[in-house]
Amino acid sequence: MCIFCKIIAKEIPSNMVAENESFYAFHDINPKAPVHVLIIPKAHYDSFNDVPGEVMGKMSTFMQEVAKAVGIDESGYRIISNIGEDGAQEVKHLHFHLLGGAHLRWGHFADADSKDFF
Ligand code: 5GP
Ligand code: ZN
Repeated sequence: MCIFCKIIAKEIPSNMVAENESFYAFHDINPKAPVHVLIIPKAHYDSFNDVPGEVMGKMSTFMQEVAKAVGIDESGYRIISNIGEDGAQEVKHLHFHLLGGAHLRWGHFADADSKDFF
């Protein structure tokens, strides 16, 4: 079982923000912004590559609710999903990072590994 499946199963504790029958939101253990919430489906998908559109539609609604619940829907926020090796995905269970509570700078790519097409 992957680490996020264990969090859903309550085998690993987490700081919950919101939950419904299909999705779970909890605070990131290593926050990169004043608000840093992880949003995951309870069903395991390795990454965004594998999630069906119908699930993504419902997940979008849940993410909007979470942004409102943590009070950043009006001030603004960023949603990120890291996918695969070049996306620097560490946990292989689809998740979206919800980041806010500060004016976020854009362009955290300076440390990207160069590739032939750069
Ligand atoms: P990724 O790099 O895969 O997009 O992001 C994984 C995220 O999961 C990281 O931001 C990391 O801090 C977070 N994370 C990893 N393990 C745990 C955990 O056990 N609990 C919580 N709350 N967050 C975790
Ligand atoms: Zn999983």
